Amino acid sequence: MTKEKTCPVCNANPTYPPHEVCETCYNKVKSYYVNPREYFERIQEAHRQNWLEKGKTLAPEIIEHNINFGMKSEAERWERIVGDGLSAVIVMIEAIDDQKPTPEFHRRRIVFMYDLINRLDPALFAPASKEEVESFMKSAIAFWNGEITEDERKRIYKSFCELMPQDDPYGRNAKSMVHWMICLEEYFNWMWYQWFESVYDAIFDKLPDEVWIELFKKHFADSIEEWASPS
Ligand SMILES: [Zn+2]
Repeated sequence: MTKEKTCPVCNANPTYPPHEVCETCYNKVKSYYVNPREYFERIQEAHRQNWLEKGKTLAPEIIEHNINFGMKSEAERWERIVGDGLSAVIVMIEAIDDQKPTPEFHRRRIVFMYDLINRLDPALFAPASKEEVESFMKSAIAFWNGEITEDERKRIYKSFCELMPQDDPYGRNAKSMVHWMICLEEYFNWMWYQWFESVYDAIFDKLPDEVWIELFKKHFADSIEEWASPS
């Protein structure tokens, strides 16, 4: 008989194969992505009212089409996230990104980044050396700890950009991630609130999930526990 695995997110319930997490954690994440038809109907009703105020009418066929389109896109997105089974890393990312990014919490994110980046192949940061990346990351931590000034931050960032420019047009790879460590909130838009989702997207193929899980548990066990605890 095979021993039942316990969900690594809540550490309470058995997993819900083929998913790596339990049914409760699975459903919690699913509720973020999959809404009932009424949700789309409400959106379309608001849309219809808007049009009406401008003296235009929205045909019922268009409204119906929009509802179906919204539901279909959402279902497809959820299918992509689940894949062959919902991964524990994805659920942990949802749990941690759910936290309000206060300056205190951001400091913790930056310390996590330091550990994460140190686990990556240093060749990803060429021409910058491992030591140069390390030194830059230490400056980023010092900045968020209030140990260096804004002028100093700008100077360090400028010289690091010369040493290791961002080379991805979409700014989404291992190098961009190092840059993000010292950037201010104004630099980001939605990414500031989906920090770990963005980081994972940038390097998901560069580290095994076990490393993410290990580091998430090391740095954010409290956030994950809070998210998973019954509300
Ligand atoms: Zn669970």
